[in-house]
Amino acid sequence: MMAIKEATKRSMLDNVMEQFNKTADSINLNSNIRKILSITNNEIILHFPVKMDNGGVQVFTGYRVQHNNALGPYKGGLRYHPTVNVDDAKALAMWMTWKTSLAGLPYGGAKGGIQIDPRDYSIGELERITRRFTYALGENIGPEHDIPAPDVNTNEQTMAWMADTFMSTKSSSERSRNQHVVTGKPVGSGGLEGRNRSTGYGVYLTIKLLYKSRGESLEGKKFIVQGFGNVGYWTSHFLTQEGAILVAVQDAHASIINKKGIAVEELFEHSKPRKGSIQGFTGAEEIDPELFFGVECDILIPAALGNQITADNAYLVKADVIAEGANGPIDTEGEKILLQNGIAIIPDILCNSGGVIGSYFEWLQNRNGELWQLDEVMQKIDKKLSEVFYKVEGLVKEGKIDWRTAAYILAITRIETAYIQRGIFP
Ligand code: GLU
Repeated sequence: MMAIKEATKRSMLDNVMEQFNKTADSINLNSNIRKILSITNNEIILHFPVKMDNGGVQVFTGYRVQHNNALGPYKGGLRYHPTVNVDDAKALAMWMTWKTSLAGLPYGGAKGGIQIDPRDYSIGELERITRRFTYALGENIGPEHDIPAPDVNTNEQTMAWMADTFMSTKSSSERSRNQHVVTGKPVGSGGLEGRNRSTGYGVYLTIKLLYKSRGESLEGKKFIVQGFGNVGYWTSHFLTQEGAILVAVQDAHASIINKKGIAVEELFEHSKPRKGSIQGFTGAEEIDPELFFGVECDILIPAALGNQITADNAYLVKADVIAEGANGPIDTEGEKILLQNGIAIIPDILCNSGGVIGSYFEWLQNRNGELWQLDEVMQKIDKKLSEVFYKVEGLVKEGKIDWRTAAYILAITRIETAYIQRGIFP
């Protein structure tokens, strides 16, 4: 049985639209701008052939949905997952628009991916799939137009292949000016020191700031994490460094618990040769996946896929803070229950925005031909994200509203202002 849910009644698109409409009503959003933001600008669906190791050819389907670029080039990740489809990509692209707007970045929002389980393919096949997808995307992406990044099951290697393929299609004098077509590259290939940990760092930082505002530290706080990929691991790494205790982890293969604390680095080492899976870890006991969200803890961090916490399981949650490392992990019905139960939810567009903030710095580094040091990068991310956090917190307190509503109001108002200033062409 899969521990992480893959199908629910509500789609992610239903959720993001409900969140958007609720905000649009509450701020009385300009009706024309409401029409524009309710729909995605472009939906690109590509079918492309790739030679497999066995000599045969397989045709793959890839997506890139560009929601809005009022504030700057489209920005957002590419995921490789069997559930990738155009509607999910639309929802995820919209979340990116709100995320980049909230963070004050000069970007719009996009998302995409390929409907595959990467574990079914060899490294050579994944390289060819990635390169052929990049080639098929062609001018639909570009360093000043639409800038992909890693997401679920993609990583710096995926980005290195994409950058190399995209740059190879340019004339030799143009090539190096296109390095920032993707972010999240390896440090040796134009990547940013610290970009790999920037999402997890941001999740940790927003949790820390929330407790700080309550006059509490992270020392002794118990947390549970769903998903132990890049975001789950780095978040756990930073939280435990401050004395918080990881008591349970769930991924697609197993759910494990150790009330005395799970050794984060050991679990990470264990998962590496197992394609990221936590299964078989001896430093914890396995539990029924259905019980995971009900584990006794202070902080719950969903850092896997969307729609994991719904009306079916929200009532189980014991945590008093939920930090959304994943995009859209709570559906709108689940959220109502959690808010009624007094749980503070740090919404994805704030909580996991350290990743795209890191991407922005990588993009600037490439554009300016610079090389930044790790400590300077982490300081910049810390400063930028803290500013955004306090802005949202200010509105939460002032308006006596929940964190998601406050974050949405700030994000959508910024886009509305840009449209009003510029008007609609012609
Ligand atoms: N995939 C990440 C996200 O969902 C990062 C996107 C980016 O850096 O462009 O925010």
